[in-house]
Amino acid sequence: MNAVDPATSTYTLDIQGLRISLPGTARPVLDGIDLHVGAGETVALVGESGSGKTLTSRSALNLLPPGATVEGAVRVGGQDVLTMNADQLRALRTNTVAMIFQDPRAALNPLRRIGDFLIESVTLTRSMSRPDATARATELLQAVGLDASALHKYPGQVSGGMLQRVMIAAALMGDPALLLADEPTTALDVTTQAEVIALLTELRERFGTGLLFVTHDLDLAAAISDRVYVMYAGRIAESGPAQVLFAQPRHPYTAALLASTPRLEAPAGRLAAIDGQPPDLRQESHGCPFAARCPLAMEICERQAPEPLHAPDLPDHRAACHHTDRLEGSPVDV
Ligand code: SF4
Repeated sequence: MNAVDPATSTYTLDIQGLRISLPGTARPVLDGIDLHVGAGETVALVGESGSGKTLTSRSALNLLPPGATVEGAVRVGGQDVLTMNADQLRALRTNTVAMIFQDPRAALNPLRRIGDFLIESVTLTRSMSRPDATARATELLQAVGLDASALHKYPGQVSGGMLQRVMIAAALMGDPALLLADEPTTALDVTTQAEVIALLTELRERFGTGLLFVTHDLDLAAAISDRVYVMYAGRIAESGPAQVLFAQPRHPYTAALLASTPRLEAPAGRLAAIDGQPPDLRQESHGCPFAARCPLAMEICERQAPEPLHAPDLPDHRAACHHTDRLEGSPVDV
């Protein structure tokens, strides 16, 4: 897999200083997110439920909760989507950025044939005649490993894996520059998961699409991505090249996540868990959001939020931790 050099690429997605606040919360739900995806690059966004992964990915489509107060910039192909008017947003959502959701069955009308769904998507995004749209839908089905017979089937007549392939075909309608995949394999069995991942990787390489892959599965993130961002409580805790980040985590939260991942080769016994809960959004916090759960927390962690800094020995790596030096060498024992 070819990693994109952030120094030379024009980012397909470039999020800078994104801060989102919602009514009724005492602190931002996203706080200072910096993230980029290059053309043809796969970037994984990992973290536990509620960490802000989905909201971050949806910001690329300007799909934000009602009443959200937003600061920062979210650029797709150099254009800030947060300042786009309705026509620009429609063009963005039909042509430039596509999203694949977790549960394909929830995204399709069970009473309509797959062909109707795909052909209508093509006619909308490409302004094509129906015969041309049928040809395009067939071509995209073939690109995801299905034949034209799928056009005549209802969602209930095909497997979950086939349906996710249909959703991927639909996402490719507008030749998107950026694909957002939000836990796209969570609802699938292991074999189908592997097929869908292989398909996404192949399509990304063939079409040069940037891929932002949202997942809570660390092994999957390590296997498919060029770079990884680890989120915790609305912030980026750590980011860096996938192989290095998982081999040499520089943030106690990443280290704890890795320690709590089941391994076949691990000795039998109780799996390590991260005690405690993420901070409550209704309570103000001035320090490190992981402080209450962190085995390395010290007095400064309670009163001062750490900024993401480059790890001295890993130049492409950033960690938001006052004591990242204490994790140098091997993963911390948490
Ligand atoms: Fe732990 Fe302190 Fe680092 Fe936060 S800043 S992760 S509390 S050591």
